[in-house]
Amino acid sequence: MDGPNLVRKGAAAVLAAAICAWLSTLGQVAGRAGLVAAGSEGSLPAAPGPKPKPKKPPPDCGRVKCLALTFDDGPAESTGELLGILASRNVKATFFLIGENAAKYPELVRRELQGGHEVADHSYTHADLGRAPRKKILSELTRTQDAIRRASGFTPVMLRPPYGSTSKRLTEITRNMGLAQVMWTVDPADWEHRDTKYVERRVLKSAKPGAIVLMHDIHPTTVRAVPKIIDGLAAQGYVFVTVSELFGGRLTPGEEYVRRNSGDAQGLP
Ligand SMILES: [Zn+2]
Repeated sequence: MDGPNLVRKGAAAVLAAAICAWLSTLGQVAGRAGLVAAGSEGSLPAAPGPKPKPKKPPPDCGRVKCLALTFDDGPAESTGELLGILASRNVKATFFLIGENAAKYPELVRRELQGGHEVADHSYTHADLGRAPRKKILSELTRTQDAIRRASGFTPVMLRPPYGSTSKRLTEITRNMGLAQVMWTVDPADWEHRDTKYVERRVLKSAKPGAIVLMHDIHPTTVRAVPKIIDGLAAQGYVFVTVSELFGGRLTPGEEYVRRNSGDAQGLP
């Protein structure tokens, strides 16, 4: 719609423009609902939520050196600073959220999704799901999915079991709930080493094409390591992707994902 022409034609045209803007807003809302629904197939119905930024097509991780940065246990106050760092470098990451924290910081859950990041489940209370009985697993997962959906309108399709602890029972439940299980390749043990330089070094040293890097955005020491990790890996030709992009789109519920072959397969150890 050509705004300046309409204005010259008087009040009726102004009214028409207003109606047009209103219709356009409705269109956006409908589009948003469609986007959310597409990502939450087989899950609870999605409430309207923030519209993720339009994404450019993800890289082909079979050919280029991809790496997924993942952040567990948030959101927390330090998450806001991390989102600023990621935005300034145009890097997309994956956040595995504790349900309790998603309920406490819903605005940060929305900001994660608005920033084009992926948001996933990490249980409600950081429970050892691999050792938990069925009822406990269902409660931990359902409450987290609900908390994230209430905060953002988005229902996760991935779970990282705390401690990487899984079981046949958990695998069966995640398959039924539409959740892929995501583990990791590189662990700088940043929860133990609250030392920015140490975390930087460990990640830069251990990174491999196709790796999933495990960090925790609840530790400010880790958040401060992220700029040099990104800059150092980018200088080595790494491309940063979310976990589902790393595996070329949709993951299979119940399956475990640890890393993928990425970049020049001949050069992999
Ligand atoms: Zn954790």
